[in-house]
Amino acid sequence: MSTRKGGSVAPRPPGSPSPSDTTEPQGLLIGGSWVRTDRTFDVTNAFDGERVATISAATADHVTAAVSAADASLALDFPLHARYDVLMRAADRIEASQDEYAWAIAREGSKTIREARREPPRAASILRQSAEEGRRLHGETLPFDSRAGSENRVGYYFRFPIGVIAAITPFNDPLAVLAHKVGPAIATGNAVVLKPASATPLSALRFARDLMASGLPDGRLNVVTGSGSELGDALVSDPRVRMVTFTGGVRTGEHIARTAGLKKLSMELGSNSPVIVMPDADLDRAVPAIASGAFAQAGQNCLGVQRILIHDRVYDAFARRLADHVAGLTAGSSMDERVDVCAMISAAQATRVESWVQQAVELGARILAGGKREGAVVWPTIVEHVPRGARLDCDEVYGPVVVLARVSSLDEAIDRANAVNYGLHAAIFTASLADAFTAVQRLMVGAVIVNDSTDYRLDVMPFGGTKSSGIGREGIQFACAEMTQTRVVCFNLQK
Ligand code: NAD
Repeated sequence: MSTRKGGSVAPRPPGSPSPSDTTEPQGLLIGGSWVRTDRTFDVTNAFDGERVATISAATADHVTAAVSAADASLALDFPLHARYDVLMRAADRIEASQDEYAWAIAREGSKTIREARREPPRAASILRQSAEEGRRLHGETLPFDSRAGSENRVGYYFRFPIGVIAAITPFNDPLAVLAHKVGPAIATGNAVVLKPASATPLSALRFARDLMASGLPDGRLNVVTGSGSELGDALVSDPRVRMVTFTGGVRTGEHIARTAGLKKLSMELGSNSPVIVMPDADLDRAVPAIASGAFAQAGQNCLGVQRILIHDRVYDAFARRLADHVAGLTAGSSMDERVDVCAMISAAQATRVESWVQQAVELGARILAGGKREGAVVWPTIVEHVPRGARLDCDEVYGPVVVLARVSSLDEAIDRANAVNYGLHAAIFTASLADAFTAVQRLMVGAVIVNDSTDYRLDVMPFGGTKSSGIGREGIQFACAEMTQTRVVCFNLQK
């Protein structure tokens, strides 16, 4: 495995942010106005420490003003056809400036430039699909005559918007995750106060600018940037906020659930996803798929592969081939076109991951590949013989580290896969339909992926987890349903 510091670097596209650039929307968005604040914070690139932008930091008062603007915007008419048109136009705008978005994502976040290029088209597609889904939302007539005494009643139900929705997003897919929240929320007639991760506000501010330029009425989308621990309580506890849609870590999710009070919660949290490799697995397919699922985005992916449960009969062959594959990966700057594994979001996170690997080694684990850190870069790491109960075995490492474990049967693999407090995605590589269906029936997760890694998601899938991995489901159709509430109309026709 190699590292690169120079070479084929993605050029800065025209219009992309730079430290001296003041044309970027770097204030807060409240009621349609860009608001600059005295207090600011820097967005920096984790690999080289370069300041990418300086952003306004909101206070709790700004949050309250943003919620007021969102609430007030709901009083003004914004019919479905207008919402459809805005989302479609915004999708076109995002696509038209996809290079600038990708550049910003790779600089501010923790994705290689090649990974970052996949986000803008995906976000545009999510907005288009949300616009279409808004058109499909409908109520139904109700069978009132199913109860004796109600024969003379007729009626139906509508779906109405929930109202003001707080959307809080993480750094790892800084554009796609917020598109998954804002697209369905706007399509179904809600108003949003968005709090992006403080590490990655640039793509969120561009996204907001593109929605406003597409004709979104003032107040329907507000953006408050700054520290989550400073702003979070004011946002989620405001009684005018009727739903909190959160994607992030379990501890933050638990804090929000305690603070929010009586309102709807959608929680997309973490995991330490398992992949089972059976003796009849096609290793030519399994090895690259699992490596990609484990090390893309430097392992900072809620769907990332963490635990590989390999049948004894193929353990040695699989381990050797995975180590060979990893030896061909390149670690380094997110802006280098040839880099496969970029810096983690911060040196502090990289140091944490390193300490978890060290803990496992002290408890008897063996490093098969990687195990090295320099600044915020952690080399793709494979560890085996990790004892049960080590952090790498039961917590979410959220870094480029995988654990190999030897199992002697499918039952044992499933028991180990389920023996954690997470359950987002799980995967199995096998040629046996019977084994695949056994896994589908017994794995306690939100999705079982057969013959691919856990890192697979289609944006229309119901998406979410069991146990500490979350509450509720995203995915366009499901988010639209969650972001509306029914209202029944019942006519009593009796004279
Ligand atoms: P995080 O929990 O640290 O931060 C997420 C967001 O919450 C950020 O915007 C942050 O500013 C905000 N926040 C922090 N403290 C807050 C508070 N007290 N009140 C309100 N908001 C607060 O998570 P992260 O480090 O940005 O992301 C990593 C985590 O996100 C991982 O656990 C990962 O698995 C999870 N994740 C889950 C999914 C999913 O769909 N299930 C997708 C991506 C990431």
